[in-house]
Amino acid sequence: MPNNIDSKCKLCRRAGEKLFLKGDRCMSPKCAMVRRPYAPGVHGHNPSRGGSEFGRQLAMKQKIKRLYGVMERQFRHHFDEVRNIPGITGDQLLSRLERRLDNVVYRLGFAASRAQAKQLVSHKMFSVNGVRMNISSYEIHVGDLITLKTNKKAKVFFKNQEESLKAKKDVPHWLSLDAENQTGKVVSMPTHEDVGVRVDAQMVVEYYSK
Ligand code: SF4
Repeated sequence: MPNNIDSKCKLCRRAGEKLFLKGDRCMSPKCAMVRRPYAPGVHGHNPSRGGSEFGRQLAMKQKIKRLYGVMERQFRHHFDEVRNIPGITGDQLLSRLERRLDNVVYRLGFAASRAQAKQLVSHKMFSVNGVRMNISSYEIHVGDLITLKTNKKAKVFFKNQEESLKAKKDVPHWLSLDAENQTGKVVSMPTHEDVGVRVDAQMVVEYYSK
C-alpha cells in the first residue's frame, strides 16, 4: 500500500491548518504550525498560490485526503461509495471518512494519531462485533462494537491504556467508550461538524464532477 512520504508537518503547513497528524506533538509548542505557520518552500509566503477555483478545489481535496491519511485511489473509492446516497454528497463523504475503522480507533483514544491507528488495525489489534478486522477503511455503522483484542492487552503499548482511556474527555458525541472493557460503540452518525478541521467537502464534489 503506497504511503504519502511528505513530512507530515509540511502537509499541515500546505493546508494552512493543523491536521493533527503527529499525536501529542501537535498539541505542543513544537508544532510546525506554531513555529512556521506558512506554506513550505521558497514561495510559501506568496498569497496568490491556489487562487483559481480549480486550485481551491484541488487544495481542499488534498487537505481532506491528508487529514484522514488516505491516498487518491482510496479517496476516490470512498467518493464513489457515497455519490448515490440521498443527501448532500459532501456531508456523506465526510461521514464515510469519519466511520473508517482507523479513524474510529483514533477518535476513541486507542491511538494518538490516525497513522498509528492504521498501524494498530493492520496488526489485527481490534475486532468489530467480535470479528477480528485488519482493514483500515472498513465502514463502521451505528451500533457496531469496536474492541481491543483481549489477547493483545498485555502488549507494552497498551500497558497504561486503560488509565489514559478513563481520563479521556474528548470522545465525540457519536461514540461511546467503555474504558474498563476497552470497547467503543458507534451511537449515531457523525456529521461534517464532527470533523474538527475547517473543510468544505462540496468542493471535492465539484472537483470530481468536472
Ligand atoms: Fe506537525 Fe501535528 Fe503541528 Fe501538523 S499539527 S504541523 S502534524 S505537529
